[in-house]
Amino acid sequence: MSTDSGIDRALLHKLAERERSLFTDRHPGSASAYGKADHLFGRVPMTWMNKTAAGFPIYLATARGNRITDVDGNEFIDFALGDTGAMAGHSPEAVTSAVTRRITELGGLSTMLPTEDAAFAGAELARRFGLPAWSFALTATDANRWAIRLLRAVTGRSKILVNSYCYHGSVDESLIVVGPDGEGVSREGNVGAPVDVTETSRVAEFNDLAGLERQLAHGDVAAVLMEPALTNIGIVLPEDGYLAGVRELTRQYGTYLINDETHTFSAGPGGATAFWDLQPDVVTIGKAIGGGVPVGAYGLSAELADALTGRGDLDLIDMGGVGGTLAGNPVSMAATRATLEHVLTETAFDHMIGTASAFADGIQKIIDGYALPWSVSRLGARVEYRFANPAPRNGTESAASADAELEDFLHVYLANRGVLLTPFHNMALMCPDTSIADVARHHEIFDAALKELTA
Ligand code: PMP
Repeated sequence: MSTDSGIDRALLHKLAERERSLFTDRHPGSASAYGKADHLFGRVPMTWMNKTAAGFPIYLATARGNRITDVDGNEFIDFALGDTGAMAGHSPEAVTSAVTRRITELGGLSTMLPTEDAAFAGAELARRFGLPAWSFALTATDANRWAIRLLRAVTGRSKILVNSYCYHGSVDESLIVVGPDGEGVSREGNVGAPVDVTETSRVAEFNDLAGLERQLAHGDVAAVLMEPALTNIGIVLPEDGYLAGVRELTRQYGTYLINDETHTFSAGPGGATAFWDLQPDVVTIGKAIGGGVPVGAYGLSAELADALTGRGDLDLIDMGGVGGTLAGNPVSMAATRATLEHVLTETAFDHMIGTASAFADGIQKIIDGYALPWSVSRLGARVEYRFANPAPRNGTESAASADAELEDFLHVYLANRGVLLTPFHNMALMCPDTSIADVARHHEIFDAALKELTA
């Protein structure tokens, strides 16, 4: 696998400086707002918002469908979609009217009382993902945390196994990568780990069944927590037989399997679980299912739900470590119901996936035209290119193909011409409002960027 991006570094550097300076010229209002935010830690409401290729973030004015405008009046075609939180498009009408009705007509922002919308959402998630018992959180991170606790309780085992370079939210157990000797080590940059992560976790490379079996054979793994395709270190797709092998091995070693569908939901209405006909014990999800309103969820198999309900020693009603005051609140539930019932429907997915195919095909053609050693991967409505060909097979390979300067250049070049990609990688996501014309506009700019880069 080549990890050489195939780009002249001096030229890249010069072009990147030009684009950053153009960005500064085009965003005086954002620059000024950023400069004044003296009482925000890092000048932003959440530190990740400093992940910006241009030196400061764009300040949001409006967002509708797949369009964003900033405080300087620039308009963007948005392929970032809040890193999946807005996969349903920004403020879809069905969601805003359901939420508005809940807030203004019916009332009840936070009551600690169930609503019928929650039962609808649970039933719809059960239909789509094939697991019968659902519970809600406010983030995918919390859905993962609570699922982990439940599976530790049921198995009496202490460890969670994840894939190297996975991301499952700010979950302590997941901040581990495969080290040079094949065993787990703390992920670089892991902030304030409560204990050495190898005490709580094991790790294997994606697409490596032998490595997985070596770790499971210790007999101390309560659950494998995984995305059916990695999506947070580029898209890394499963090879033939890998996911079936994971299921077989987890069953063989008495380990539960959690599919985190927070991003792989892009594969279709029932996520990768339905798309690849997978049989996890638990599904976790968040972000998109709320249409932009905070929500997370986990679904349990009947066997697990029964086992947990029968455990009188576990405090699931009060302060036993699972649940939260605002989880399942009437607003999240109204939004989730509306998103699943009216927005992220089978018809919408057909359109989004068709648009993503056009996006991927066009990118591939452009890359081939410049003979660059890059590759494109698609998972349903989500597309990503990496600076390596063939496409990386696991997280470590994908991490090695990163090229921060090149990535930043492309992000700023696109932003300067009215297109946003997700700031963490070269990911483009389609929502129901994304059109083929939007894809064509992206490709026109992408082609122009590569022409300059390879001149
Ligand atoms: N799981 C996956 C697969 C994710 O990609 C993310 C966020 N990128 C999360 C969980 C956590 O989501 P949140 O930050 O909304 O808790």
